Amino acid sequence: MSEVIKTTCPYCGVGCGVLAQVEADGQVTIKGDPEHPSNFGRLCSKGAALGDTLSLDGRLLFPVVDGESQSWDAALNTVAERFQKIIKDHGADSVAFYVSGQLLTEDYYVANKLMKGFIGSANIDTNSRLCMSSAVAGQKRAFGSDTVPCNYEDLERAKLVILTGSNTAWCHPVLFQRIKKAKQDNPDMMVVVIDPRHTATCDIADLYLPIKSGMDHVLFNGLLVHLKNVNEKNEIFVDNFTEGLDAALAVAESHASSSEIVANHCGLAIDAVEKFYRLFARTERVVTVYSQGINQWSYGTDRVNSIINCHLYTGRIGRKGMGPFSLTGQPNAMGGREVGGLANQLAAHMAIENEGHREIVKTFWDSPNIAEREGLKAVDLFSAIDNGKIKAVWIMATNPAVSMPDTNKVKHALAKCEFVVVSDCMKNTDTTRYANVLLPAQTWGERDGTVTSSERRISRQHPFLPSPGEARPDWWIISEVAKRMGFNDAFLYKNSAEIFNEHAKLSGFKNQGTRDFDISGLQGLSISQYDNLKPIQWPVTSDANKGTERLFANGHFYTSSHKAQFIAVDISYAAKEVSDTYPLRLNTGRIRDQWHTMTRTGKAARLSGHIYEPFVELHPNDSKKLSLNNNELAQVSSELGNIICRVNVSESQQQGNVFVPIHWNDEFASSAVVGSLINATVDPFSGQPEFKSTPVNVKSYATKWYGFVLSRRKLNILNASYWTCSRGEGLWRYEIAGDQIPDDWAEYARSLLCQHADAVEWAEYFDSAVNRYRAARVEDGRLESCIFIGPDFSLPERDWLVKLFKDNKLNDVDRKSLLTGKPASGEKDAGKAVCACFSVGINTLVDAIKSSKLSTPEQVGELLRAGTNCGSCIPEIRNIIKLNLESE
Ligand code: SF4
Repeated sequence: MSEVIKTTCPYCGVGCGVLAQVEADGQVTIKGDPEHPSNFGRLCSKGAALGDTLSLDGRLLFPVVDGESQSWDAALNTVAERFQKIIKDHGADSVAFYVSGQLLTEDYYVANKLMKGFIGSANIDTNSRLCMSSAVAGQKRAFGSDTVPCNYEDLERAKLVILTGSNTAWCHPVLFQRIKKAKQDNPDMMVVVIDPRHTATCDIADLYLPIKSGMDHVLFNGLLVHLKNVNEKNEIFVDNFTEGLDAALAVAESHASSSEIVANHCGLAIDAVEKFYRLFARTERVVTVYSQGINQWSYGTDRVNSIINCHLYTGRIGRKGMGPFSLTGQPNAMGGREVGGLANQLAAHMAIENEGHREIVKTFWDSPNIAEREGLKAVDLFSAIDNGKIKAVWIMATNPAVSMPDTNKVKHALAKCEFVVVSDCMKNTDTTRYANVLLPAQTWGERDGTVTSSERRISRQHPFLPSPGEARPDWWIISEVAKRMGFNDAFLYKNSAEIFNEHAKLSGFKNQGTRDFDISGLQGLSISQYDNLKPIQWPVTSDANKGTERLFANGHFYTSSHKAQFIAVDISYAAKEVSDTYPLRLNTGRIRDQWHTMTRTGKAARLSGHIYEPFVELHPNDSKKLSLNNNELAQVSSELGNIICRVNVSESQQQGNVFVPIHWNDEFASSAVVGSLINATVDPFSGQPEFKSTPVNVKSYATKWYGFVLSRRKLNILNASYWTCSRGEGLWRYEIAGDQIPDDWAEYARSLLCQHADAVEWAEYFDSAVNRYRAARVEDGRLESCIFIGPDFSLPERDWLVKLFKDNKLNDVDRKSLLTGKPASGEKDAGKAVCACFSVGINTLVDAIKSSKLSTPEQVGELLRAGTNCGSCIPEIRNIIKLNLESE
């Protein structure tokens, strides 16, 4: 057994500390780090399952050039030569990097330095553009800097926590658990949830405001007016440290002058609006948490400023338990911003449009060719590839063919791009298939560097596994290309510690308190000091060598006047209207147990048990109007494309709105990339795309049959017009459907299940009258695979069959029942997993709740253990209790 290694979770922006230990059998044990100040030992379901995602299955292990494995030297030479040639022929702006909040800060730093300081273009943008660039733009407008003033402790010290546009329970689960615990410890603490969807986060809400989609800025403008009307202005703070109040108030009063008007705009009850306003007005310690639900709009930046305005007006910023708090989606979105990973930034929070800042960076880097103007933001960058202005792109650690809006255009652009390089840890993603050159990068468990969480906390990621094949650190790959492009002296890094030290030094270079991002107190760390660096919040300077918990209590801001700016937020921007053809508004987001495009979490069976298929969630009245039944398949269409999803009818949705998750890609489903529906409409200040509001229609997807397949081996699904795949314990699970009935079901089934063998042990059942077919393949006495086909979606539940795959030999009783899909004993199928940690299914929960009269999640936990590990499923358990006790 190896020593315990402290590292940081690679998923969301909470930045939880993780303890990893490699066992004697090669398995990796994962625990939460009790000493890490982000999580104090907690992990959510995704973090807890990290050990299940570390197999080499699907890894890119060797450099590949034009489909052939190559040496590193040959691949790096190819990249350097092609980039150099294109730059020589067409100029620096004819090339681009598209990078990622998955990169470590050190990787990000080197990529940004190469593009902005040496190639001389600012055409480097990041997938963080898609999740929080409106928060960045809003903070820069208000504070003059991209500064998150709060920290996680403020969520526990607050008397009022407002969660708006944030399904914290699923997207930042450990923070949700911290808020929940603080509320239990302090019953006076109030939580307000503002969201068009009734999400799991509402589990802790004292007040839930089911706001009309996209209207949060009107609600907060109304709050600003209300605060004025009830004399809650912090005179000292506003008069001494802010500017622009009159204009902001005048605009707010023009459309949000009373609670009645606000309630009408927002689709809320007047009482609820007034209650919210009273709570905010009378509570000094208030934190407003916001995330993608605020940011991902074509007017996301204004929405951010409408929140910040209210905190400035009351002076509730920078002190314990108060402030506006943007939660970042990715593990290192914040680190990417620190090094200038967005196309409109320079390194170390300097501004590309500021000549003085350009000079500072140029001098520090001894740069021959500093970029002089901002580069293309993500959507424009892929448009420029599409129209041929950008002729070479290097994509690092991200999958834009799934995650961008209008993905069909992105794929088209990549397909025609002259030269595409992708560095990634995975071989087959929707993006790698367009690459001329594939470069194998290290992944979590192998990488060595730092990440910064949503609360400005820098934490170390440490390696605990050897790099497989020829995988290399991203910083090494970029540096090697830079050297081959003739920039040798500036990229002679031997390890990530050297890069971190340079980054820290630059942050303090000619700073003298003029820039918020300053970690000069960390420069000059030895390798062992860097290895032992404890989580710390920037700024870290000689005056603040233990880091900085909060900013702005002193009223010093980074605008030219050093005063914070109120921003007038009007309602002239609006999302695209729904129409007769596309009458529903599509909202997109994450689910509890998957991460981004599933390249990692898709490997963990326990993370696929909760939700294993892409779905479209819609209100019962809409499903009725559209004659759609729960569990049937539906086609969701926008003016850009179509996808197919399982229908999930839910009261959580407002009428007129639908929700589809962002995770599924072409590897896991036949047609479920929701980005293919999203308009590439962007916010004018941030360039962030509008993922929260696309007009769509939903209609029944006509199929002649439904089915599922369970198989120990991965299969190529043939002749099914719909399929999805997911992992179970030791098996692959496929949901399938077709619009053509095969001539011979037996032949069809054998072509699927016997792809790897001719002579097999085979059992089958066929009822031609109703087109019901079932077959199973047995190998060496154990179940190898099975297929169940029926005329509609009412097929047997899968859990008992899944359990049979755990046995090395089928017993006679189970073998006889196999094709019924049910155990002979009458034992009940456990049903879809609710608790991922202990694999507790919904049927097991319902039975226990009813038979043992369980009325709280704690009682359920005592009996079944469900919800007692990471706690992510507790809101769902509470809901199941409510539904089943009510129906008694
Ligand atoms: Fe990882 Fe979960 Fe913590 Fe986010 S909340 S950092 S996904 S363990």
